Amino acid sequence: MSDSTPVFNDRNTGKSKLINPTLVLNCGSSSIKYALISEDESTRITGLAENLGLDTARIKHTTLNGEKLEITIPGGRHELALQKILALLEQYHFVAVGHRVVHGGREYSKAVRVDQHVLDEVKRLKILAPLHNPANALGIEAVEAIYPDIPQVVVFDTAFHQTMPPVAYRYPIPKALYEEEKIRRYGFHGTSHAYVSERASEITDAKGPHGWLTAHLGNGCSATAVYNGESLDTSMGLTPLEGLMMGTRSGDVDPSLHIHLKRKLGMSLEEIDTMLNSESGLLGISGLSNDLRTIEQAANEGHKDAQLAIEMFCYRVGKYLASLSCALPDFTGIVFTGGIGENSATTRARILDVMRHFGIKFNAEKNDDLVGGAEGSFQDEGSSIELWVIPTDEECQIAKETCQALGLK
Ligand code: AMP
Repeated sequence: MSDSTPVFNDRNTGKSKLINPTLVLNCGSSSIKYALISEDESTRITGLAENLGLDTARIKHTTLNGEKLEITIPGGRHELALQKILALLEQYHFVAVGHRVVHGGREYSKAVRVDQHVLDEVKRLKILAPLHNPANALGIEAVEAIYPDIPQVVVFDTAFHQTMPPVAYRYPIPKALYEEEKIRRYGFHGTSHAYVSERASEITDAKGPHGWLTAHLGNGCSATAVYNGESLDTSMGLTPLEGLMMGTRSGDVDPSLHIHLKRKLGMSLEEIDTMLNSESGLLGISGLSNDLRTIEQAANEGHKDAQLAIEMFCYRVGKYLASLSCALPDFTGIVFTGGIGENSATTRARILDVMRHFGIKFNAEKNDDLVGGAEGSFQDEGSSIELWVIPTDEECQIAKETCQALGLK
């Protein structure tokens, strides 16, 4: 298929053409997000297969013209969903497939072409990402079975953070655990931090090299110190549980919490793990939801736990950003992204209030305007640093890294 003629599909505007597209796949434990992105990154087809394995399994597909289709696949699992997705996209003759893979361990510092060794590594790293890496491997194998000649690339969430120095990535625990068991901090959300920091460096007027704190605030949350395009420290660690308070994840807690809960309540390690990953964060504190919109509404109506959830969330982000600034030789600015970072102006304002000793000044009106996919800066005159909202585009970053890994760009 790689040698086929590209298909030209003009949108209504007649401007967009899906030429030499890359298929980006993000296979999760019960869902598959996909995007077919043109070589020049200007055009895409997107979709989501969700509820996989359940009676309600379905594919929501948006065509090149923006038309929405829904295909039900009751009980369908990853393999079936991928077969249907690939059948929908086959006509566009994609030239490569890029997979988002959560954990790349110590070996991978950039995207790599899939071969047997890479696939084995993705599977082996299940021990560090039990929910994600097996699903990612399934996606690779399903594509391989149908299109053995199309090159596939894996883009690791951890790869961008491989530039962290030992002072940031080691835990202060016995050395043998690092050397023999690879226990260290890896960091995640790498494609998002890479994309928004690179974009900030493109659009700022500040002379380089630039030092950015990137705050990816969505259902999962992490912050990274990026200097001169390299991650120097980040808030997530061995797993995506460390660091900031998130939708359902606790972020940092006392490491002795496990032993305390075991002794006091007889909880098993698995129960504690589920509690910290799925029942904590905004959901745990508010008792309402992991969705900030629901919590903001309840807080406005006087719900005390919702108010505390928002305060804690912002306090913890501000505190983390302040500490991560220590990693940067120069501090150019903060970049907000993710569902919350891109849409909640009040959350951004509260976080900046927490950082009150940094000489940051922001324009409230500009901040309020930067929602719903808008990109721009909102610092005021005399601010010590720049403030940006940059919508993340992980699919675009994965497509770009896929083409780079294959020498197509
Ligand atoms: P993500 O995981 O990046 O899709 O982000 C999901 C989070 O973004 C959820 O907590 C949503 O409540 C939050 N979010 C999305 N839109 C808004 C909005 N307009 N105002 C506040 N939070 C939002």
